[in-house]
Amino acid sequence: MSTEVWVGTAGETGAGETDARRSSDANANANADGVDLHLHSHHSDGVLAPAQVVDLAAKASVRLLALTDHDTVAGLEETRAQCNARGITTVPGVELSAAWHAQTVHVLGFDFDPANPALQKYLTDVQVQRRERLREIARRLDRKRIAGVQHSATELVAEIEASQTVITRTHLARALVAAGAARSIGEAFKRFLGRGAPGHVGSTYPSLASAVECLKAAGGVAVLAHPLRYTLSAGARRKMLEEFRAAGGSGIEVVCGNARAHVDGLVQLARRFGLDGSVGSDFHDPQIPWNPPGRLAKLPASVSPVWRHFRLPN
Ligand code: AMP
Ligand code: MN
Ligand code: MN
Ligand code: MN
Repeated sequence: MSTEVWVGTAGETGAGETDARRSSDANANANADGVDLHLHSHHSDGVLAPAQVVDLAAKASVRLLALTDHDTVAGLEETRAQCNARGITTVPGVELSAAWHAQTVHVLGFDFDPANPALQKYLTDVQVQRRERLREIARRLDRKRIAGVQHSATELVAEIEASQTVITRTHLARALVAAGAARSIGEAFKRFLGRGAPGHVGSTYPSLASAVECLKAAGGVAVLAHPLRYTLSAGARRKMLEEFRAAGGSGIEVVCGNARAHVDGLVQLARRFGLDGSVGSDFHDPQIPWNPPGRLAKLPASVSPVWRHFRLPN
């Protein structure tokens, strides 16, 4: 949601990683755990096909991967096939949109049954809500005549809907950039789509607890994505994590993209609430340089890896 704080500080590399087992590996710093459990494809708001995402991850020596598109499992079969071809282990993944009070939150699900009926219903319900929300955003922008370059925002959204099952604000941001209404996706969010901007519309997603319950009913593991990216006070964040744990959540993302400065604080949160740690780039687009697949710090040893719960082949 617009209230997310975006960390886009390029330039942090893997310097400082000291994993003796991999010290002879030229890619050691690029891929300390060999794990990336947060990746997007063109089935949601990424730009590459799942197989291309897997190929990039393979180049970064990823050995365990989950594609986690927003509110869809459409890319998972292609991901599995390409991972098999490349000798990478994969589990089903998804990034569910949910609500905690007025805040949109993202729940990563792993190692679940993608065909589970409750999960399928969750996904289709949210996909419908996404369409309604983007149409309302477009109506508001058009009332202010904002897109208005050549096409109305409503026309831009209709085009997106024609080509995508899961439509997101990222798609509209890209369309606004292409229409010349903003110079970058970041600027499009700031000027048109984010909180306080004329096109800001809240969302009506199912509750955080119901997202966790749904993933568990499908046999999966629930992880709260990028816990520091929500606009919440420290106290509210702790309350959210408490409720997440009580609902059956297993872990939080401790290593998120390049946000290394946040790892220590996230380790403390994980330990405080008895949650395991996950590692993911949140990769969307190879043109965006700061969070490529697999270039991630190692999960600190003081937190249990959430992938210990996965049913992996020996
Ligand atoms: P939605 O789920 O439709 O609300 O869109 C949220 C998606 O937009 C996130 O998953 C991000 O990929 C992207 N996003 C949100 N805020 C920003 C931002 N300020 N800059 C770039 N991308 C953003
Ligand atoms: Mn996204
Ligand atoms: Mn997210
Ligand atoms: Mn994501």
